[in-house]
Amino acid sequence: MRQIALKAYAKINLGLDVLRRREDNYHEVRMVMQSVTLYDKLTMKKISKDEISLSSNLGYLPNNDKNLVYKAIHLMREEYKITQGVKADLEKRIPVAAGLAGGSTDAAAALVGMNRLFHLKLSLERLMELGAKIGADVPYCVLRGTALSEGIGEILTPLSPLPACYILLAKPGINVSTRFVYENLEADKLPYHPDIDGMIEALEREELKGVTDRLSNVLETVTEKKYPIIGKIKQTMKENGALNSIMSGSGPTVFGIFDKKEKAEKALDKVREIELVKNSYLVEPFLPETKKYFLKR
Ligand code: ATP
Repeated sequence: MRQIALKAYAKINLGLDVLRRREDNYHEVRMVMQSVTLYDKLTMKKISKDEISLSSNLGYLPNNDKNLVYKAIHLMREEYKITQGVKADLEKRIPVAAGLAGGSTDAAAALVGMNRLFHLKLSLERLMELGAKIGADVPYCVLRGTALSEGIGEILTPLSPLPACYILLAKPGINVSTRFVYENLEADKLPYHPDIDGMIEALEREELKGVTDRLSNVLETVTEKKYPIIGKIKQTMKENGALNSIMSGSGPTVFGIFDKKEKAEKALDKVREIELVKNSYLVEPFLPETKKYFLKR
């Protein structure tokens, strides 16, 4: 039986602004998203049994309808009346609950995988629409690359790609729930707002420094305040050659952007010396137009 293998890329937020809390308690955001070359591997194949069978290398992740991969496969089976079963295996390499959209990107890969496996011939737009039913960040994870995300995350505009650079990711060994962060955010009393428009213009001018000068995430007002280790990692990156460093998403992962690989490698050594840092990776921007989704056909 034919098996397909997909790469599900992590994302960072180069800019994250919250405009307001809506009546329904969702937050209206304005974010500059960027995929990076850290990915989970998802393999999928059809099986004769009429069921979804999911496995992963992480014992503590649910393999049932609580897993976003399961949800995505289930949604596609319902929507397109697919009776044939699917077996999926997830190799998690992106840290969980890290602010890197790990779950959302797995769900996006599962949608793309189902499209391919069952020859559904759905457009990227349709897959993004289906993704919105699973989670606010899933449509972006279908699109990937450099993009502006607005509304509650479902309004997407592709942007000029982030210029070539090296990105250091460091996650302290603490778990931060996205829900906790948004619930504790004082959306109408934010002390600063990122210059998202200035960042978009810098991307258009292909000016890395113009982008890094504007890295900013309002969710730090909650997460960094609660976990000072985040500030310490940012400081270490900046003292060791990062053009700038901020927290990604709701955290706790911190990233730094470097113009030279040697500087990033040196900073990686320093960051690894920090006791609380549990995972660290040196990655690059992932630009979908230059790379394929599928590992093999
Ligand atoms: P975001 O950046 O969108 O806030 P995150 O990186 O902080 O996401 P995830 O790794 O997506 O967080 O996971 C958050 C929760 O989702 C975990 O508690 C986990 O149990 C659940 N989850 C469901 N499916 C998955 C999956 N495929 N991979 C990781 N987590 C999953």
